[in-house]
Amino acid sequence: MRLALLVVVVAVLVLLLPTLLRRLAAPAARPARSLPDELVKDPVCQTYVVKSRAVTRASADGTRYFCSAECAGRFTGD
Ligand SMILES: [Zn+2]
Repeated sequence: MRLALLVVVVAVLVLLLPTLLRRLAAPAARPARSLPDELVKDPVCQTYVVKSRAVTRASADGTRYFCSAECAGRFTGD
């Protein structure tokens, strides 16, 4: 059963390698698509808010971002 173990180890390495390489390849340059200070629009009051600080709610169209819990509550109807 040593071969089966080897196959599992190789499979895990192959699955983890792209993630590890991505981390090693870009330690200084952050990926442009996920900037921490990316601005997102509040669909309730139309205000632009910093994504990392926005109040989030999951919706059918994906995650929605709000400036406050009040706006999030208005959007979801709570
Ligand atoms: Zn708002």
